[in-house]
Amino acid sequence: MNALTWLYLILKENARLIRAAFRFSPAYWQRTHSASWYKLKAQIVRQQGGSCYHCGMIDFLFIHHLHYRNLGHEQFERDVIGLCKKCHRAADNARKKEAQPHAKI
Ligand SMILES: [Zn+2]
Repeated sequence: MNALTWLYLILKENARLIRAAFRFSPAYWQRTHSASWYKLKAQIVRQQGGSCYHCGMIDFLFIHHLHYRNLGHEQFERDVIGLCKKCHRAADNARKKEAQPHAKI
């Protein structure tokens, strides 16, 4: 992979993250950038032994909200789990499809 391709991929990923941040409320953004959130993330990684909750692969874990009802007071397994990048993307895509039932046609 050459430097230009690498730069393109980084910019593309940053654009995706920025779009994702604006899809959510300021409360969500604030929560996922708080000290207590980082503490929760570390706790989940420890509890799962660094492996994905879904596929078991040991990888960098993304914290996935199963729902947003307890935003700010999430608990492991009740509200959030740690997923690898692939499973996290699949879970988010499944949620998007659920939110747009008419888009399946
Ligand atoms: Zn996984």
